[in-house]
Amino acid sequence: MIPRYDPTYTFSDLFQCAAVTGRDTSSDELASRLKQIYQVRHAFLFESARVALYAILRAHNRPGKVLMPAYNCIVVPEAVRFAGYEPVFLDIDLSTLNVRPETIQAALTEDCRAILATHLFGIPCDMDALKAAVESQDILWIEDAAPALGAEYHGQLVGNFSDAAIISFQATKVLSAENGGALLTNNDELAERIRGIQSQVVEPGGRLPLLLKALGRKVVTHPAVYPVTQAAFQAIRRPKMYEIVEPLERMPENFFSSCPPFTASLILQQLNNLSRNLSARRELACIYQQELSGFNWLSMPLIPDHCSPAWIQFPILVEDKVGLFEFMQRKGVDLSWTFRYSCADSYGVADCPKAQKAAKSMLGLPTYPSLTTSQARKICSILRTYRPMHQ
Ligand SMILES: *Cc1c(COP(=O)(O)O)cnc(C)c1O
Repeated sequence: MIPRYDPTYTFSDLFQCAAVTGRDTSSDELASRLKQIYQVRHAFLFESARVALYAILRAHNRPGKVLMPAYNCIVVPEAVRFAGYEPVFLDIDLSTLNVRPETIQAALTEDCRAILATHLFGIPCDMDALKAAVESQDILWIEDAAPALGAEYHGQLVGNFSDAAIISFQATKVLSAENGGALLTNNDELAERIRGIQSQVVEPGGRLPLLLKALGRKVVTHPAVYPVTQAAFQAIRRPKMYEIVEPLERMPENFFSSCPPFTASLILQQLNNLSRNLSARRELACIYQQELSGFNWLSMPLIPDHCSPAWIQFPILVEDKVGLFEFMQRKGVDLSWTFRYSCADSYGVADCPKAQKAAKSMLGLPTYPSLTTSQARKICSILRTYRPMHQ
């Protein structure tokens, strides 16, 4: 069985981080490394990327509308609401999987306070067009680079184009831990205000629960164990391939919390391998692009030459999502469901048919660095034998 994902840390990374004794300075070190990599003046760590987003918006302190793509992780509009703002959903374009500049322009109103440029699955969005759309506006421009650590646009790291950016270290992202997120900014005033609200940040719990969770995740995604994991998972529930997910009503207690030092040390441990991690992902994506082009029942995002994605997975759009998913399962390949919902449906506020279509037809091919190129080729050759139901 080929698992849908594999955490990027090794058992040895975990044990090295577990062995740290005394005062752990990993959080400060990780923040400095990020500042250095991104060449930004300020980096803050939080419990997750969503909390980093919440912190930026709280610091901005101008409640109003925040524009964002409707096809996105549900935790993003939740964080926006928790910070006292109103999420506004924009429909996407199915060829880029992101929002078109015209859509943004049409949605810009007096009461828009911020816009999220989302690098979905690590694919840089069209920053030139976005810049042109928002440049003359008095709004905060935030990059949601949660899945895009290391992705580049015209040779420059995404996360570096706007007023502030968020990055995630959650288990399915470019570098994995159990939680963790970063906020990057060059805006001194915003940084000062973030420092101002940091006294409200809750300290995380101990390292043992995180270590055990990370260890458990590494074990259950191990190829030898994965068939058992799969069987257990399917016995518990048969997930729907599309659903209307209910947003959280209220902000959970302890939501505004910091990044645990254990998480920071696990990310630091992997940061030296970042370029190898990214080139492995890009090589796998390249195989998918080459071997899966020309099918009338499958499409993939258009990637301009000046974009170098970080590929946390490789999204494909198919007519028969459930059929293909089950077919691949029978052949020993577990695909990712991606987001099985449109945020616009969850909030019942806007009509975004293409976001809904993406939710109903998208599957993710694995791009984690431990996947070999021959496994990727095998996935392609299995995919090629699939015959969609309606054909
Ligand atoms: C994963 C992800 C998030 C959320 O990151 P957390 O660290 O889990 O809060 C936000 N936006 C996008 C585009 C993501 O992929």
